[in-house]
Amino acid sequence: MNARLAHDPHFSRLHVMGAAVAGALPHLHCAAAGSTSTSSSSFFVPDIVRSSSAAFASCAARPGRHWPLRRGNDVTASRSLSWTVPAGRVGKQCAKCPTVCFAASVPTQIHDVVSEDEEDYIKAGGEELDLVQLQASKSCEQPKIAEKLQPLGSETLDLVVVGCGPAGMCLAAEAAKQGLNVGLVGPDLPFVNNYGVWTDEFAALDLEDCIEQTWRDSAMYIEEHSPIMIGRAYGRVSRTLLREELSRRCAEAGVRYLDSKVDRILEVNEDLNTVVCTSGRTVNSRLVTVASGAAAGRFLKYETGGPGVGVQTAYGIEVEVEHYPYNPDFMLFMDYRDYRSRDKGDISPEEIPTFLYAMPISSTRVFFEETCLAARPAMPFSLLRERLQERLEKMGIKVSHVHEEEWSYIPVGGSLPVTTQRQLGFGAAASMVHPATGYSLVRSLSEAPFYAAAIARALKSTGGKLGTSNSQEAAIEAWNVLWSGERKRQRAFFLFGLELILQLDTVGIKDFFVTFFRLPEWLWKGFLGSKLSSVDLIWFALATFVIAPNALRFQLVKHLIVHPSGAKLVQTYVGLVDAGTHSTKLTRV
Ligand SMILES: Cc1cc2nc3c(=O)[nH]c(=O)nc-3n(C[C@H](O)[C@H](O)[C@H](O)COP(=O)(O)OP(=O)(O)OC[C@H]3O[C@@H](n4cnc5c(N)ncnc54)[C@H](O)[C@@H]3O)c2cc1C
Repeated sequence: MNARLAHDPHFSRLHVMGAAVAGALPHLHCAAAGSTSTSSSSFFVPDIVRSSSAAFASCAARPGRHWPLRRGNDVTASRSLSWTVPAGRVGKQCAKCPTVCFAASVPTQIHDVVSEDEEDYIKAGGEELDLVQLQASKSCEQPKIAEKLQPLGSETLDLVVVGCGPAGMCLAAEAAKQGLNVGLVGPDLPFVNNYGVWTDEFAALDLEDCIEQTWRDSAMYIEEHSPIMIGRAYGRVSRTLLREELSRRCAEAGVRYLDSKVDRILEVNEDLNTVVCTSGRTVNSRLVTVASGAAAGRFLKYETGGPGVGVQTAYGIEVEVEHYPYNPDFMLFMDYRDYRSRDKGDISPEEIPTFLYAMPISSTRVFFEETCLAARPAMPFSLLRERLQERLEKMGIKVSHVHEEEWSYIPVGGSLPVTTQRQLGFGAAASMVHPATGYSLVRSLSEAPFYAAAIARALKSTGGKLGTSNSQEAAIEAWNVLWSGERKRQRAFFLFGLELILQLDTVGIKDFFVTFFRLPEWLWKGFLGSKLSSVDLIWFALATFVIAPNALRFQLVKHLIVHPSGAKLVQTYVGLVDAGTHSTKLTRV
């Protein structure tokens, strides 16, 4: 069986579903590939993680590609959608594993099998749902939004923003600055994610005061020797200060607030929508923008037939250590060196590489994170935790105390929202996460003023006041600003990059990053920050091709010719398809 099949979007989706179905099976592991891995000797993993640890079924035929099959049926029980393995695909007994191995199943028909439900399931957390929810519900002492903002009354608003994440709060503030009557609706929960940013980008947003720690440069290790210095300062965002600043901006602009989850959004008549909260409270508004995070499928429609969603997963710990082997003056952006090869011989080239990211906070306190840049299906947290633990042990880093754990699950790629629908979207809900990097914070914060202005313009141009306006027309106008043809071309390029990353093995990914940071600064910075125009991105591609080693050049050309994302990229650029309508389906060639 072709090991690369595991990377195939269609195949991999099956793998996810297979794993979900297999979750109902008792735990089994691969006799050929050795024992299960449960890392019971873990010195820093609390019980909550150990108890949810999945056991691994790995397969000699495709080492490293079998994600754990969960014991028990927790995922099936906790998700709201029902799942079935698509017709034409049958899980079969792997030749090497004593289990029904969906990874070894043979598709009887190759076609795009991803449905909206599947994509939603993956975006919500898929097999990692319990830890994704645990991350979202972490406690963190932060002032309540309700203490700063006036409560929502019963008036009909111009705009309701659903969701109090960074994207929603920033958009609400900017829309109110445009003179709109804005309501913010969402649970009053703290910001719990550890956000890292390039400090120049945050300064440009007037948010440098929200950075709690800055490193003057960032380092990257690809091979054994000295680091590659990226030449760019990096900062750690204070979750508390960012939330306070966004609350302050909302309060100053006159945003009103309701602390409640939204249950559904009703289209009442041409220019009126009703947001129905789980508490039963309703809020009327001319337009609604959903900013409730990546899993927004219950409120927004997404295109069908698009590329499958991938996931960036990272397991992080903030710890006290006795010895930190890197230079503490620099932030460790990526260490792709493989700490295991010394003891275990060659790592299979098929294994998906992960890297270490570290923020040295003091001489003894460090935030470490083992990251899988992108995988489909998601690399499980238990595997990342195990790799991190092994890495730290091999490096002689002894952890004496764990302050915090982080489970970072970021869906990347996937479908665009339908840009003719009446409900608007923003942030991760509107597919604004960079498909190739997983970053979205700076993009959302920097686009908020422009999008807010577009919403205000659209409401005005489609009939200034309630009773005369048209929500549908206004929404289409605003969507076309957020996802303009130019933005869609850029996204086609990034999706091509994501699919390439999903295809690259350890050597390929190292070649890619060495090449990437050797590009002219404006190119790699612009790529990371979603700032390159579609024309700039052609320069990016040409420059990458010129300086890349031959093996990577070959991969690039092959990927462009063979992979559907290559065809899609070319078609989008030459205008044969509107990237928004997906008249051309991504199908395996
Ligand atoms: C651990 C972690 C670390 C990350 N680090 C970075 C980083 O360093 N840099 C970066 O750029 N990106 C990072 N990301 C990715 C991304 O930027 C973040 O996920 C970011 O928080 C997305 O912002 P958002 O406002 O779009 O959505 P979210 O932050 O997910 O906010 C959505 C909000 O909507 C609310 N909500 C959900 N459902 C409802 C409902 N039914 N009704 C009302 N409200 C609802 C939620 O409670 C939440 O407050 C990280 C993600 C994670 C998980």
